[in-house]
Amino acid sequence: MTNWKCSNCGYTLEADVPPEQCPSCGEKCDFIDVSCYIPECDTTIGGVDKRI
Ligand SMILES: [Zn+2]
Repeated sequence: MTNWKCSNCGYTLEADVPPEQCPSCGEKCDFIDVSCYIPECDTTIGGVDKRI
């Protein structure tokens, strides 16, 4: 899964591909790939258990 962020309203979601239409602001926004290179999404890295 990839984390996508709406460049218009900042809404984020997880999906394989970004939606055509933002479910939050209802526009056809650009979605930015924000997957898991930032500390706050540590626990959502593709099911990888970092304790191992
Ligand atoms: Zn939006």
